[in-house]
Amino acid sequence: MNNRLYGNLIFELSHEGRRGYSLPKNRFGHYEVPQELRRGRDAELPECDELTVVRHYTNHSGNNFGVDNGFYPLGSCTMKYNPCIDEEVAAMPQFANLHPLQPKDTTAGAQAVCTLLERALCALTGMSAFTFKPFAGAHGELTGLMVIRGYHESRGDSRRTKVIVPDSAHGTNPASAAVCGLEVVEVKSRADGTVDVDHLKELLDDTVAAMMMTNPNTLGLFEKSIPEIAQLVHGCGALMYYDGANLNPMLGACRPGDMGFDVMHINLHKTFATPHGGGGPGAGPVGVRKGLEPFFPCVSPYSGNFAVEMRAYAYILSLGRENIKMVGPLATLNANYIKECLKDLYLLPIEGLCKHEFVFDGLRDKSTGVTTMDVAKRLLDYGYHAPTIYFPLLFHESLMIEPTENESKDTLDGFVKVMRTIAREATEQPDEVKGAPHSTPIGRVDDVLAAKHPVTTFRQMRI
Ligand SMILES: *Cc1c(COP(=O)(O)O)cnc(C)c1O
Repeated sequence: MNNRLYGNLIFELSHEGRRGYSLPKNRFGHYEVPQELRRGRDAELPECDELTVVRHYTNHSGNNFGVDNGFYPLGSCTMKYNPCIDEEVAAMPQFANLHPLQPKDTTAGAQAVCTLLERALCALTGMSAFTFKPFAGAHGELTGLMVIRGYHESRGDSRRTKVIVPDSAHGTNPASAAVCGLEVVEVKSRADGTVDVDHLKELLDDTVAAMMMTNPNTLGLFEKSIPEIAQLVHGCGALMYYDGANLNPMLGACRPGDMGFDVMHINLHKTFATPHGGGGPGAGPVGVRKGLEPFFPCVSPYSGNFAVEMRAYAYILSLGRENIKMVGPLATLNANYIKECLKDLYLLPIEGLCKHEFVFDGLRDKSTGVTTMDVAKRLLDYGYHAPTIYFPLLFHESLMIEPTENESKDTLDGFVKVMRTIAREATEQPDEVKGAPHSTPIGRVDDVLAAKHPVTTFRQMRI
């Protein structure tokens, strides 16, 4: 509807000379703007009436997809529901209007929120202290690795320049290690999808600064060998880093601090409900075990993304000590339910109980030529956000589904039904699936062209 009635770009609705405003008559006389300050030619701005502008943007905003519109099973991202009360609390003028340079004695409330949130996160993770400075998970990884580097340097140990990262890790892990000036060494996964401890043993020596792990890992599998891994890593003098992006299914079940991790980050925007579709805003507080607090670096001014911290604190309080214990088990139940309902039609490369998410390797029937990309695009026609696709890189046709604990059985059943329908379509009318989406304002875009040659201006579009 938007395209036909309103045009895709505000420039397409422009008519020369049309105005959406009227300025008061000039009562101040006429002044010449010096020549050198003037434009060579008029700015090319769209010229529209007020209602056209309002409708154009309002209708476009309706094209946004979020957890509030529909099911959003994006694996590894934990797109969970952000209750309205969290937004309300974060928007309270007493907090929202604070200025970072206000005198400290006028911000006692905000400081109390940080202290109380830190206490809650310590209780949930088993860590001893948190810094709120990092703005995202990746920023937290860098901060945490700086803590580890600082720790080794304080002992005069400058040989430790390597970070061990599993091959299933999120791309930010090796990237953060590299940005921190450390060398990345990859440890392989076993056929069951967990870290190959024998391979790890070969890699451990006194040049290793840290081992980074995600648990449950990016396949949604609980890393059962962590106690042994922690012992091996500590045994060679290195520290254990926990990538907390997948903390959601751990809530109420177990704590990284109890498993032997020394440093971790939490993605508040994943586990503690801040909406983050489209890349922001986020917060990646870093926690450390006792004794490592002095090594917190100053990676940003002030206390990070305070509004995200407010939402996290409101979320934790609204669930409370008892209900928060249900988060992990329910997220796990929902993921396993979808997995079991679909594994006869979609290829499940690793059988068994998963945690909050799991990975299919595309459709079971490979003869149709319908890919994971096609399935993901077809889901859009049915009103669902696509799962994560082609990650992790361990399989060719990864389709990674994470429902979260928030969804009702009806929603899960609706999704299962559509996924089954798409599998049937793949056999009976594959071209329909391969040409999807058919019902979105824009059909299938050329991913490569969009990345290699992005068209970001109206003028470029006309050429
Ligand atoms: C999302 C994610 C990250 C990075 O977090 P950002 O907040 O996006 O920077 C790191 N590791 C894993 C496993 C993730 O899912």
